[in-house]
Amino acid sequence: MKFSGKNVLVTGASRGIGAEIARVLAGYGLKVWINYKSSAEAADRLKDEIESNGGEAAVIGFDVSDEKAFVEAIKTIIDCDGELSYLVNNAGITKDKLAIRMSVADFEEVIRANLTSAFIGCKEALKVMSKKRFGSVVNISSIVAESGNAGQVNYSASKGAMLSMTKSFALEGAARGIRFNAITPGFIATDMTDKLKDEIKEEYISKIPLKRFGEPKEVAEAVAFLLSDHSSYITGETIKVNGGMYM
Ligand code: NAP
Repeated sequence: MKFSGKNVLVTGASRGIGAEIARVLAGYGLKVWINYKSSAEAADRLKDEIESNGGEAAVIGFDVSDEKAFVEAIKTIIDCDGELSYLVNNAGITKDKLAIRMSVADFEEVIRANLTSAFIGCKEALKVMSKKRFGSVVNISSIVAESGNAGQVNYSASKGAMLSMTKSFALEGAARGIRFNAITPGFIATDMTDKLKDEIKEEYISKIPLKRFGEPKEVAEAVAFLLSDHSSYITGETIKVNGGMYM
């Protein structure tokens, strides 16, 4: 995979899909900034693992929903590397409940963690990437942005808005040479889906044409493609990585 840029910030990279995105991108030769919120030890272990495989990585802990902290983190990266070439807005949470039991606080907490955080990241990336007139951003949305899901009114709203926000950023970034794309993963085997009861997992698997949950690496490779030079004429697009569950 060919990359003209040299570094990437992956939010929520201490575990799950984000950690695998960090591994894959480091394997393609990018310096990876590993963000986490609370799992500092896991982030440090990932850095060591990447370095022991010959890659380059740095750890940068901050809460993506904290604008000041996000802006400060990007400043740290620029001070250190002179640029930010790529950003993956991956950090995300769920707080599932049926809508009639969901408080406004439950709704807003998920919107802030998943959507407002990505807005902050896209906005700051657009500013700093504009100086080099180069960059690519990938937002990790979800299949439920497209299909909806009972019990996830807050989460699906955050991920759905992320898709339309990605298109608007793509329009604003295009003249500056900066691309914005999104991925909508289906059910991927991570801590997030491990919380589901076995019977719910079985029910979802029965609805997936490929008859299994996806692996984080299968999402990570699609992210790498969208960041890389190989997708240089693709912007404002969404790639589904869902085993055919929603076409
Ligand atoms: P996960 O295993 O629960 O990991 C979540 C990651 O996000 C962790 O690294 C966590 O950091 C980080 N994070 C959460 N809130 C944060 C915050 N405020 N600031 C910084 N980091 C924060 O989740 P996952 O399954 O890998 O999901 C990754 C992304 O893919 C999410 O956006 C999720 O919505 C999306 N997605 C997942 C699936 C799936 O089936 N797994 C499907 C569709 C979309 P700490 O470890 O420090 O808490």
